[in-house]
Amino acid sequence: MSGAAEICYFLAAPLFILALRWMSSPETARRAVMSAVAAMALAIGGTLLQPEIQTYTWIGIAVLAGLIVGVPLSRVPLTAVPERTGLSQAFGGLAAALVGVAKYYMWLGEGSLTHFKMGVIGGEVILGCLTCTGGLLAAGKLAEMIPTRPITYKGQNIVSFLGLGLALALAGVLVYDPTQSWAFPFIIALGLIFGVLLILPIGGADMPTVISFLNSYAGLSAVALGFVLENKLLIVAGALDGSSGFVLSIIMCKAMNRSVTNVLFGAFGSVAAAKALGEKKTAKSATANDAAQLLSAASTVVIIPGYGMAVAQAQHRVRDLYELLTKKGVDVKFAVHPVAGRMPGHMNVLLAEAEIPYDKLVEMDDINPEMPQVDVCLVIGANDVVNPAARTDETSPIFGMPIIDADKSHTVLAIKRSMNPGFAGIDNELYYADNTLMLFGDAKAVIGDVVKELSGESAH
Ligand code: NDP
Repeated sequence: MSGAAEICYFLAAPLFILALRWMSSPETARRAVMSAVAAMALAIGGTLLQPEIQTYTWIGIAVLAGLIVGVPLSRVPLTAVPERTGLSQAFGGLAAALVGVAKYYMWLGEGSLTHFKMGVIGGEVILGCLTCTGGLLAAGKLAEMIPTRPITYKGQNIVSFLGLGLALALAGVLVYDPTQSWAFPFIIALGLIFGVLLILPIGGADMPTVISFLNSYAGLSAVALGFVLENKLLIVAGALDGSSGFVLSIIMCKAMNRSVTNVLFGAFGSVAAAKALGEKKTAKSATANDAAQLLSAASTVVIIPGYGMAVAQAQHRVRDLYELLTKKGVDVKFAVHPVAGRMPGHMNVLLAEAEIPYDKLVEMDDINPEMPQVDVCLVIGANDVVNPAARTDETSPIFGMPIIDADKSHTVLAIKRSMNPGFAGIDNELYYADNTLMLFGDAKAVIGDVVKELSGESAH
């Protein structure tokens, strides 16, 4: 490796580490992004300086192809970031697997496949393939192109693990004798199939955790790729990616009150019982005028935003509502669930964008004890994160997930467009409760109407 490339790599490694460190706080997050961009630029620059590179033609073509796919991908709305992340992981896994495949046949032809090289290629190809199909399936589930409910069958875990076991056994055969090339295509196929089997049984509500697990697998396949290509920086960056993805998965499992094995292998088979509560019960609907009266008569209001607020881009109207109610002397707080929306911190970002004072945002564990004293809970496009089935229904796929206890407040006003379920695909009995009034419509329009009613009233 050239001296200049060594220096680039030497500088990039600590910048990657600092980026992760700074990412842990909103105040330093911007610096973290700059640091990661600088590290990546150094990594790419250093790689391009490698003396082994004889022509830049293919690299140029690859960069162009990457730009064609990457630029539109970077322009997705905030609500689509998780599925975009799933796609990035799928592409990352595919790239690692393809390099592994190319290196296997190249080294096989040269007769230079050692046991160690074969071991890392095997790991890289299995991890890369499962991350590729797993990422694609996760993106499909997150985009709701395929059912978000767990898809299960009897003996699922046994089948999945037999598949993985077989892939590992075949990799073992190749490590022992790398010339047994008949086994290699089977490893690829089993890796691809295992990725699908891994994600199918995972329900919508657990997708955030799964995305960070996939991140971790993509990181591990990058480590293996680093060994295959003898690229130290790739080993460092892959290890950081793999370990941070794993730590984030553990943190999210804790936040959702799930064990890692429960998320990955639980399969929540009882979802078939996703009950059609709506068939028997009816929900009560209210008008913007009713809502305005209830809100202005309240002394405490808790606003619970969810994915629907993001879809409707209603955060600025929410700010107007917050200001009007505060002026009337109502104590307004925002209860933010850790997985509300479609990415960690989604609601915080939107509320900060609308300049809601940060000290008005209260975390789930802090607001829940106050809920029985709250006069009105205004649920804006939130569903799974306020579903009492998580506390009461053992057969529910979200049972055990901590929720914001909106149902315990005196009155609930829930804004959504229909009685359709949320991301986990299950009905929500909160909407049929005696103390709940539904405000049907797009969140931005409904809040706009409530604001109009309230300001008309305040003008009197
Ligand atoms: P949900 O997806 O459970 O529910 C959102 C609700 O918003 C829907 O019921 C929908 O009802 C309503 N809605 C959609 N568009 C509008 C609109 N324009 N106006 C008004 N309402 C609207 O959202 P939650 O935030 O409660 O829960 C998040 C879910 O996503 C959890 O299951 C979580 O696990 C999962 N998830 C979270 C991630 C994260 O990191 N935060 C990542 C991936 C998944 P209707 O169609 O009737 O309007």
